[in-house]
Amino acid sequence: MKVQRNVALGPLTTFGVGGPAERFVTAKDLDELKQALQQARTNTWPVFVLGHGSNVVVSDSGVRGLVIRLALRGISHQRTKQGLEVSAAAGENWDDLVLHTVQKQWSGLENLSGIPGTVGGAVVQNVGAYGQELHHLVQSVDAISSADGSLKTFSVEECKFSYRNSFFKSLEPQTYIVTSVRLLLDTNGQPSVSYQDMRGGLARHFAGHDSVTLQEVREAVLEIRRSKGMVIEPNANNLKSVGSFFVNPVVSAQHFEKIKRVAGRDSAKMEALMPWFWPQSDGRVKISAAFLMEYTPYRRGFTKGRVGISPRHTLGIVNLGGARAAEIVDFAREIQTVVFDLFGVLLEPEAKLVGFEKYPLLEP
Ligand SMILES: Cc1cc2nc3c(=O)[nH]c(=O)nc-3n(C[C@H](O)[C@H](O)[C@H](O)COP(=O)(O)OP(=O)(O)OC[C@H]3O[C@@H](n4cnc5c(N)ncnc54)[C@H](O)[C@@H]3O)c2cc1C
Repeated sequence: MKVQRNVALGPLTTFGVGGPAERFVTAKDLDELKQALQQARTNTWPVFVLGHGSNVVVSDSGVRGLVIRLALRGISHQRTKQGLEVSAAAGENWDDLVLHTVQKQWSGLENLSGIPGTVGGAVVQNVGAYGQELHHLVQSVDAISSADGSLKTFSVEECKFSYRNSFFKSLEPQTYIVTSVRLLLDTNGQPSVSYQDMRGGLARHFAGHDSVTLQEVREAVLEIRRSKGMVIEPNANNLKSVGSFFVNPVVSAQHFEKIKRVAGRDSAKMEALMPWFWPQSDGRVKISAAFLMEYTPYRRGFTKGRVGISPRHTLGIVNLGGARAAEIVDFAREIQTVVFDLFGVLLEPEAKLVGFEKYPLLEP
């Protein structure tokens, strides 16, 4: 295991921006990860863990300390009283795991097909798509402490999963690094999300079908994702983005009424963009961030210099080629400002911003 100096991080991320890692190492197994963390502790280097870089914006000045690229591999399964327990190491490619389970007729992950990144990144971000969220399937998560190298198994409660968030994502600095996850899947071969609960065009896709296989769900998800430029494919001209830049905000019922009033000034647009809100069990309402943006100049296809909004996906801020991280975060801050001025909603990023001396976006 060799620690390298000044390794460019841009090419290791899907946004393709950012400066170098001061020090960089790839950990292929738990022993190498332990060694890397030990070295970081001895030299008091701050640690940043990188998966496949599909949810990070690296600053132009790069990242100080030690960047550890996780490449821990391994997938196994065992039958338990509750169902089928599948264990996957954090460095596995997420979609390879999904494909593996679909081929085996194990249900649970099919709606999460085509999400870029590693298994570890998926846990940290509690990935979700088309009505499914990863935390519904998690039994436990193994992680290593960067502070002392000890290993700990986190119960699902301890993971504190919420919408696109977890205990691990909120840690600053990263005191726990996810090394593997155990998922509980069903072996009945039936799609885990009912048609009515499928989101983002999937329910429409299957309207009128009597039964649907896991493979059909996977193919439909991939087809819809491709149409939005939301898959990263080898040798393809992929959009350079982090997928959705902002998370969907959740607002009070009162605030929702205000948003409806403002949006209702263009009632045809409001109707055309349905569904754009989802009532939550606590009385609050989740709003589509893309819906709010569509009322501003920052709509699909809008460009400014070397950055813009994907022509196929409003939430996709894209690097059109050669952009710097500063241009991306400036653009994102402009969007935050106009959406806030219009609707009183502060959009928050889904991606991790790393290496910035000062947090470059608006904060609540
Ligand atoms: C085209 C596109 C489409 C996308 N679609 C979706 C989608 O539908 N749904 C969705 O939820 N997300 C989506 N994403 C976002 C992204 O794919 C996920 O968040 C993914 O899980 C990130 O994994 P990664 O390995 O690339 O993480 P990275 O980008 O490498 O890291 C992201 C964050 O997680 C931390 N991290 C990574 N691995 C570990 C670990 N093992 N332990 C501790 N911390 C860790 C990193 O330090 C960083 O803070 C999309 C992204 C793109 C580019």
